[in-house]
Amino acid sequence: MTFYETVKIKMIEFHRSSIFSLQSSILSLCGLVIFLIHLPSPAYLSAQTWHTVQWVSDGDTIVLSSGKRVRYIGINAPEIDHENQMAEPHGYRAKAFNAKRVQSKSVRLEYDVERHDRYGRELAYVYLADGTFVNAELLKSGMAYYLYRRPNIRFDNILLKAQRYAMQFKKGIWQNWLEDHIIYIGNRDSRRFHAQSCVFANRIKLENRVQFSGKWNAFAQGYAPDRKCILEFWSYGKGE
Ligand SMILES: [Zn+2]
Repeated sequence: MTFYETVKIKMIEFHRSSIFSLQSSILSLCGLVIFLIHLPSPAYLSAQTWHTVQWVSDGDTIVLSSGKRVRYIGINAPEIDHENQMAEPHGYRAKAFNAKRVQSKSVRLEYDVERHDRYGRELAYVYLADGTFVNAELLKSGMAYYLYRRPNIRFDNILLKAQRYAMQFKKGIWQNWLEDHIIYIGNRDSRRFHAQSCVFANRIKLENRVQFSGKWNAFAQGYAPDRKCILEFWSYGKGE
C-alpha cells in the first residue's frame, strides 16, 4: 500500500464516520422531538394554567382572582350597560349564562398567537374542569356570535360550527331575528360585513369582495358585522 492509498483509505474512513455521526445525531434529535411530543406537561405548567374566576363582566369577559381581565377569543357577546352605551338585547342574558358556567369556578386558559388585546386584556380559550369549552358553549347557546380575528384562529372551525348549531335551532340571539334581506358586502380577508353604503365596503379590494343577501347569510358564513354601519340584527326573545 502506497502512502497515498493509505491516506485515501483514512480519508474515506473519516468521511464515513462523520456521516455516521451525522446520522446518529439526526436520529437522536428525532428521538428527542418524539420524546418531547409525548411528554406530559410538567406539573408546574398545568398548575399555572388554572385560575379562579372572581367576576363575570359580561358574556365574553371575565376577571380572575389575580385581577387579570380575560377576553374570550373568537366570540362577541351582546353588550350590557356601559358608561356611554345602552345594553343590547340578550346582553344580560349572555352575562348570566357566562356567570352560571364560570363564576367562582376554576378555569383552565389556553392561548393563541396574541396573548393580549389593545385594552390589555388577556385573550384566551376558557375551559372548565369537566372539559367544557366555554367559548364554544356560549356560541352553541346563541349567547354570542362568532368573531374571526387573525392571527387568533386556532379553533376557527369548532367555533363557527358551534354558532351554526345555534342558528339552526334558533337559540338566543338567533330567535326573533330582524332580517331585511338586502345586500351586504363582505370582506373575505377580514371576514367583516358592511352595509352597501358604508365607506369601508367601498374600500374592499375586488378579489376580497363578497355579497350576501341578508345578514343571516353573512353570519352563517362566519362573517361578523361592522358595528359602525350595521346596528340592529337581534331583538329580545320571549320572556325577557
Ligand atoms: Zn361598515
